[in-house]
Amino acid sequence: MSDVRVVPLCAGTAARTLSRLVMGADPEPLDLTFSIFYVRAGDRHILVDTGVSTPEETASHHHPLGQTAEQDPVAALEGIGVGTDEISVVVNTHLHWDHCANNHRFPNATLYAQRSELQYAIAPLPLHRHAYDEIEVEHGMCQSLPGFMRAQLTLIEGDLEIAPNVHILHTPGHSPGSQSVLVSGTETYLIPGDNLPLHQNLNGGQFTPNPIHVDLESYFASISRSTKEADVILPGHDLRVFDRAEYR
Ligand SMILES: [Zn+2]
Repeated sequence: MSDVRVVPLCAGTAARTLSRLVMGADPEPLDLTFSIFYVRAGDRHILVDTGVSTPEETASHHHPLGQTAEQDPVAALEGIGVGTDEISVVVNTHLHWDHCANNHRFPNATLYAQRSELQYAIAPLPLHRHAYDEIEVEHGMCQSLPGFMRAQLTLIEGDLEIAPNVHILHTPGHSPGSQSVLVSGTETYLIPGDNLPLHQNLNGGQFTPNPIHVDLESYFASISRSTKEADVILPGHDLRVFDRAEYR
């Protein structure tokens, strides 16, 4: 049996509507979570996504959110006995503002993102500008670094095995460089980022896209490919991932 475990951690919460995350759904109220995932594989400590910034910083640039002191991503990790300096690998499922804001807080980590994602984060279509931190330049000076540039990224193109039984899959759809993490334990777990933000995006096996996407054809191909091998999906914004404290 493989020696892996996945622990979902809540880095914040917000009130939204279902239609914001499931194309064509009713605008019914929805409580969502900003989840990050700690993965232990043998002696490797891996973190999938680094979550949101503080509510104060986020409110001025993006959307209001709730975050208790324990939900700060570093505090949440400490709560399960993991120090930031122990994390050796960070995977950003993509570089939207709510998935990479704390990249700079993991000094010993190699941070993996797809090259196509960083390229798009710098110059997205106007429609997607709000999803990435903006680069603010005044008098020729960068005023503050966006979350996705606060730490050195290691850029990859395609899939990568990052530890025994832990693989990054390049799964474009929600964004050009969206990537998912596949973890093989007693069951096979898929961390799809915002390709599948909620369980409702995959109701009864029927896929309904996130309204934020770049290319439906590659999106459908990515979902088909990444769900084929997975027994359990761990969506990025769904409260139900916390029904289990950990996945082994
Ligand atoms: Zn996103």
